[in-house]
Amino acid sequence: MDFGSFGEKPVRVLLIDRDRGEYTLIGQLLSSLGHDAYELTWCWQTEHAIEAIFSDLHDVVLLDYQSDPAAGQAILAKAVQMNCPVPIIVMTAEMDRNIDREAIRSGASDYLLKGRIDSQVLERTLRYAMERKIAEAKLARLAHYDPLTNVPNRILFRDRLSRVLERARRGQQTVALFFIDLDGFKQVNDTLGHEAGDELIRTVAERLSHCMRRSDSVARIGGDEFTVILEDVDTTSDIVNVARKAIDVISRPVMLGGQQVFVGASIGIAVFPEAGEDVDSLLKHADMAMYQAKGLRGSAYRFYTEKMNVEAMNQMYLEADLRRALRRGEFELYYQPRIALDGEQVAGVEALLRWNHPVRGIVSPADFIPLAEEVGLIVPLGYWVIHQACADMRAMDARNVDPIHIAVNLSFKQFADEKFAQTVGNIIDAAGIDARRLEFELTETAIMSSVEDIERCMQLIRELGPTFSLDDFGTGYSSFAHIQRLPIGALKIDRSFVKNVITTHDDATIVKAMISLAHNLGLKVIAEGAETGEQVDFLRDHACDQVQGYFFSRPLPFMDLLDKIQRTFFPATSAAASLTL
Ligand code: C2E
Ligand code: MG
Ligand code: MG
Repeated sequence: MDFGSFGEKPVRVLLIDRDRGEYTLIGQLLSSLGHDAYELTWCWQTEHAIEAIFSDLHDVVLLDYQSDPAAGQAILAKAVQMNCPVPIIVMTAEMDRNIDREAIRSGASDYLLKGRIDSQVLERTLRYAMERKIAEAKLARLAHYDPLTNVPNRILFRDRLSRVLERARRGQQTVALFFIDLDGFKQVNDTLGHEAGDELIRTVAERLSHCMRRSDSVARIGGDEFTVILEDVDTTSDIVNVARKAIDVISRPVMLGGQQVFVGASIGIAVFPEAGEDVDSLLKHADMAMYQAKGLRGSAYRFYTEKMNVEAMNQMYLEADLRRALRRGEFELYYQPRIALDGEQVAGVEALLRWNHPVRGIVSPADFIPLAEEVGLIVPLGYWVIHQACADMRAMDARNVDPIHIAVNLSFKQFADEKFAQTVGNIIDAAGIDARRLEFELTETAIMSSVEDIERCMQLIRELGPTFSLDDFGTGYSSFAHIQRLPIGALKIDRSFVKNVITTHDDATIVKAMISLAHNLGLKVIAEGAETGEQVDFLRDHACDQVQGYFFSRPLPFMDLLDKIQRTFFPATSAAASLTL
C-alpha cells in the first residue's frame, strides 16, 4: 500500500516523551519522509500532555510508554475517557509485549517498538491510525445519528438522556422530556409521496433544533416522532413556553413540491423526577402524555403529572387574565412615602403596582410581575406605570402638594425594548412634568444583565431628567466598579437587612457598612422596610438619609396618599419644605 504524501496539509504529530533523544530521532525520521509532509511538536512535560492532546492542534499523538509506563497509562486512560478525537500511538520497549496489548485494549490506536522504528514503519503506523480514526468517527456517526435529519437517533438520545439524568440527580436539577408526534404526517406521506414526507421531517428537525437552547437535545426516534431533552429547567412555565414554541415552529407552513403544507404537533411532557427517575419510565410516560395531547384536537401539549397540567393551566389563565386586565384598566398605583430622616418629611414616594382583580381582589406584584416579564407583558404594563405616575405627579401639582419625587420600578426586560428611552421621553413630554422629579428603581440583577445596553439606555434617560436608584441592594450581585460607572444616585438597602438590624449583630454591621459605602460613592441611602421606631432610630443614628417602611406608612392608594401627606407630613401647608432628593 502506498502511503505517499497524500493530502496537502502537513500531518501534525504530537510527541509526548521526556527524552530529548527520542524527539531528535522522530524529527529526523519524519523529515526524511518529505519536506513539508509532517510537523512535529514535542511535549516533554507529562503534566501538560492532556492539555496538548486536546489543544486541537494535532492530528496524531505519539505517547512514550517506555520510560514511565504508569505515567503513559494514566495519560492514555484520561484521554480515552475524555473522548479523545485524535489517534494515540504508544511507543513501548521491545520486551513489553503485555503492555502493548494492554494499551490497545485501553484505547490506543497502535503501538511502535522503540529502537525498531524506521521511517517507513513510522509513516505507515501514523497513516493507519489516522485513517482508522476517521472511519471510526464515520461509523460512530452512522450508529448515533439519523441519516435523514442529522439529529441524534434513538440510541444516542437514550445515552444522552441517561447522562443528563445522572447530572440532574447530582445537582438536584429538573429535566423535562418532550415526546413529539406530528399531526397529519401520514396524510402528507400518502398524498404527496415519501419524498415530500422526508422533506417535511427534515424541515421539522431543523426548525426544532433552531428553536431550542444549545444545551437542549433534539432527537428523531421514529418515523414522525421526535424527542427533546430540556436540561436544568426552573419552572413549569419555562417548560410550557418551550412546548408552545415547538408547536409554533412546527405549525408554520412548509413548501413541499410547490404547495404549502400545514402539519401540527402533539407533545407529551414527562418531568424528572416527578414523572419517572430513569430513561425508560420517562420515555414511557412522555409517550402516554403525548397520546392524551393527541386527544385534545391536536397541536397541544400535556404533562404526565396532573399537578403540572393544573399549574400550566393556571398560568395560561393568569396570562390571559393579565392581558385583559391591561385593556380593562384593572391596574392601580399605590404609593409609599419615603421619609427624609433629617426633618422627618416626605422626600418622595415609590409607586407600587396593584392589580384589582374582579374575583381575586387585590393581587400583589410578586404574584404577577414575574409572569408579565416572562410573556413580554411587562413592556406595555411598564409604560402604563410610568404614564400613570406622571399623571399622578401632575395631579399633585394641581393640588399644590409640595414637589416630591416619584420613584417607579423598572424590570430589566423593559430595557429590551429598543425604543425605551425614546418612549419614556414621549411620556414625560406628553405629561408636561418636571422630569427631574421622576426616579427609576433598578435591581442589581437588572443592571448586571446586559451591561453595555443598560448603560447606554440609562445615560439616554438621565439626559432627559430622571434619576436612578439601585433597589433591593445587598440581595443581588453587582460590582462596585459598575455601580460607579452608571448614573445611579441612591442605594436602597433591602428590607431583609433592615428587618434584623436591632436583633442581629451581623445585619447591623452590614447596614452600617452599606451606608458608609454608599456615602463614599457619593450616593444617597434609603432603607427599605423599617417597621419599628427602634429601627428608624438606628438608621438615623447611622446617618441613613431616608427610610421607607410600614413604620411611617404602608403603600396607599393615590387619594389616601394625598390625604396622608397633607395631614401628617406637611401640617398646615408648610410650604417652605421644598424637598429634593
Ligand atoms: P420593591 O421595589 O423592593 O418594593 C418594596 C416592597 O416592600 C413593596 O412590596 C412594599 O409594599 C414592601 N414594603 C415596604 N415597606 C415595608 C415594611 O415595612 N415591611 C414589609 N414587610 N414590607 C414593606 P410590593 O408592593 O408587594 O412590591 C413588591 C415588589 O414588586 C417591589 O419590590 C418591586 O420589585 C415589584 N414591583 C412593584 N411595582 C412594580 C412596577 O410597577 N414595576 C415593576 N417592574 N416591579 C414592580
Ligand atoms: Mg422598588
Ligand atoms: Mg426593594
